[in-house]
Amino acid sequence: MYDVIVIGAGPTGSTAAKILAEKGRKVLVAERFPMPRYKSCSGILIKKSMDLVKQYFGEEIPESVMCLPTENKGMVFTDDKGQEFVFAQEGRNVWRSSFDKWLSDKAAKEGAEIRSDTAVLSCEEKEGYLMVSLKGETVYTEEARYVLDCEGVTGSLKRKITKASPWYITTFQTFNKGSVDLDPHYFYAYLQPELSEYDAWFNVKDNFLVLGVAVKDTGKIKFYYERFLAYMKEHHRLQIDAQEKAEKWLMPRIRPGCPIDYDVGRVLFAGECAGFLNPMGEGISCGMESGYCAACAVSEHMDDIENVYASYRSRTKPLKTYMERQWSLVGRMADTFRDFILLP
Ligand SMILES: Cc1cc2nc3c(=O)[nH]c(=O)nc-3n(C[C@H](O)[C@H](O)[C@H](O)COP(=O)(O)OP(=O)(O)OC[C@H]3O[C@@H](n4cnc5c(N)ncnc54)[C@H](O)[C@@H]3O)c2cc1C
Repeated sequence: MYDVIVIGAGPTGSTAAKILAEKGRKVLVAERFPMPRYKSCSGILIKKSMDLVKQYFGEEIPESVMCLPTENKGMVFTDDKGQEFVFAQEGRNVWRSSFDKWLSDKAAKEGAEIRSDTAVLSCEEKEGYLMVSLKGETVYTEEARYVLDCEGVTGSLKRKITKASPWYITTFQTFNKGSVDLDPHYFYAYLQPELSEYDAWFNVKDNFLVLGVAVKDTGKIKFYYERFLAYMKEHHRLQIDAQEKAEKWLMPRIRPGCPIDYDVGRVLFAGECAGFLNPMGEGISCGMESGYCAACAVSEHMDDIENVYASYRSRTKPLKTYMERQWSLVGRMADTFRDFILLP
């Protein structure tokens, strides 16, 4: 019987597993892909993420997981009137596959058992524990007192458990060789409604110029992406010599009030899967923090489920408030996000 089975070895799951193991809990992490696994991401770690890595894992982020330019100097927003706002802040530029593998190795070193290439298929509630069905080379079951679902946006288990229809944004980004007249140390977000249905972005990873758009309707990807390229050519002298890769992914579509799905029975949700995501898809810091909060709540109140629920909610309250404030900020920059504005 495990104390906790964690689903997913992203930043949320690995943080939770590391903390649970550190607190002496018997923890299994099931990750459906072989590690290191791919995750579509801009790979910008904001200052808060850097600090959380230091706080939870006791180390600075190693150079080996970074790409060039390793240093990120902040975000440049262009609002829906075309006005630029620079938010200067220290950050790092990483490849997610390497960064996430590094985190999961740290969880393993602390004593968490990691089974990659192993998908959780279902969880069945029993008296005081859960029967978890897993698929590795074969299908088999394990027992756990709690499941911490950190499966991210692409996971299907939460959909099965809650029976709720998820709200998605589709992201599309390309990796290109070429040139542009922007400082590669910044992440650029464009909020003009003519360029995307959510946001469009530009950043640099090693020698690649990464250009992306987010849409509500996948049929409109090509339309917005071409408009965004034209905009970048006109305003920033973008020149593309070769497109090396294009990829689609999903992001949770956060709604006004930033509702969070905390738990169902003995299953707790954390990270993106719970609905923690800051504007412009900054999800690593809130994934790590919610994973930490869930791990502490379970570990401290293992035998008292009502207190697990209460503790998880109260520990994540500052995180939710931070998230609401961030969304309110972009609400003031673009009509697309107007409903997020918090009233004084
Ligand atoms: C295009 C794009 C750009 C982004 N850029 C940034 C950025 O620059 N900075 C930032 O902070 N955030 C960024 N994000 C958001 C960030 O990637 C996510 O918020 C973050 O990865 C969430 O972490 P997580 O651990 O909750 O989920 P994930 O990182 O998605 O990890 C979940 C894991 O669970 C596994 N899994 C799923 N289902 C199962 C199952 N049934 N059984 C076992 N394992 C399962 C998955 O394979 C995956 O490894 C971006 C997102 C997108 C789409």
